[in-house]
Amino acid sequence: MENQNFFLNCQKQFLDIANKLNLKTEIIEELKEPQRIIKFQIPIKTDNGKKKVFFGFRSQHNNALGPYKGGIRFHQNVSEDEVKALSMLMTWKCSLLNLPFGGGKGGIIVNPKELSKKELEKLSRGYVKAIFPFLGENIDIPAPDVNTNAQIMEWMIDEYFKLTGKKSFAAFTGKPLNLWGLEGREEATGYGGVVILKKLANTFKLNPQKTTIAIQGFGNVGSNFAYFAQKEGYKIIAVSEVDNGIFKEDGLNIEEILECKKRTGKISICIKNFDKEITNKQLLELNVDVLVLAAVENVISKNNAEKIKAKYIIEMANGPITPDAEGILEKRKIFSVPDILSNSGGVVASYFEWIQSKEKNRWKKEKTFVELSKKLSKSFDEVFFLSKKKKINLREASYILSVDKVAKSIK
Ligand code: NAD
Repeated sequence: MENQNFFLNCQKQFLDIANKLNLKTEIIEELKEPQRIIKFQIPIKTDNGKKKVFFGFRSQHNNALGPYKGGIRFHQNVSEDEVKALSMLMTWKCSLLNLPFGGGKGGIIVNPKELSKKELEKLSRGYVKAIFPFLGENIDIPAPDVNTNAQIMEWMIDEYFKLTGKKSFAAFTGKPLNLWGLEGREEATGYGGVVILKKLANTFKLNPQKTTIAIQGFGNVGSNFAYFAQKEGYKIIAVSEVDNGIFKEDGLNIEEILECKKRTGKISICIKNFDKEITNKQLLELNVDVLVLAAVENVISKNNAEKIKAKYIIEMANGPITPDAEGILEKRKIFSVPDILSNSGGVVASYFEWIQSKEKNRWKKEKTFVELSKKLSKSFDEVFFLSKKKKINLREASYILSVDKVAKSIK
């Protein structure tokens, strides 16, 4: 039900923009649903010799700007509506960032923590076996997403090579370095978020040393955001994970927390001198300059939107603010940067990996970060300019720019 709402929300968001852009009915019809959605079974033999059938999806939303691009997630809550929604968001994100890609997304209904490594490998290979004719470096290019990683991409691309007989390294991104994976891909989303933070600081004349930040989520995205923001001189006063977080009024030592998390697996036991434990609810309601949402969707809803005290919000997770909460935040003059702009560092880096894999010309991490900064800064400027010109918020401006580009290219 929740996922159905997620898709309907995405569709409604698109229809509102389509109306504002006066798009023709046939273009609206094409864009309001994915061009293709593939549903399939993945049977595997488990370690105890029994057969088990899993269900997989691939949603190919639109390819007007280029091959479909988007991750594959392994999660028990994956559904057709979820992949449909996420593939549509990928179309807008790629368009906004001027990437030559359309939008795709896939997934398998599974809790990967319940599988052995051998079973996980069979499942990953099974996914590719089921849909490989619909994949390819110029057709549809998957990448990691929730609970999938470079190892899973390695199994998948290896299966793809076997089935097609083609060693096409650009058919997947987020791969290990020895398969033309990109240096800096892991950190790219968090790094990109800090590029946006710096643009925000420039725009609103914030002094990093005096700017306090709270970050919800300390996984790949949140921890890299924290690391790069602290390197830029910002004061991170709180970070959290699913089971609580840490707070220190005059600034946490992020490197120590990263080291502790690496050693122990979770940050809630990384409390040091003068640090205090903090709940997720308390973190969201802290009186900080910037609140970074880097965990899950719907964490700010109409239930807590009135209690948010941050002046700026950066959405690093997908959909962390519900549409009704957004209205409340806007009325309260809280300025937020939407997910399709601020968390786009990952797909931009995937684009660099795709080029690197095609050209067989290895990029240095420095080059990745420099090019990433250029692309995100340019998109931020375009969005900000339009939002000022039309007196609309950044989300609406982002959607207008991205939907318009896709619609024009369909024409
Ligand atoms: P991750 O699994 O590495 O980390 C997630 C973090 O959120 C963990 O610290 C976890 O403890 C915390 N968390 C989970 N549920 C929570 C809850 N209910 N309350 C508070 N904290 C909670 O995931 P990630 O790769 O860092 O992704 C985070 C978000 O960013 C997701 O929404 C993802 O879709 C989005 N995103 C990720 C990328 C990427 O490149 N990894 C790119 C774009 C968007």
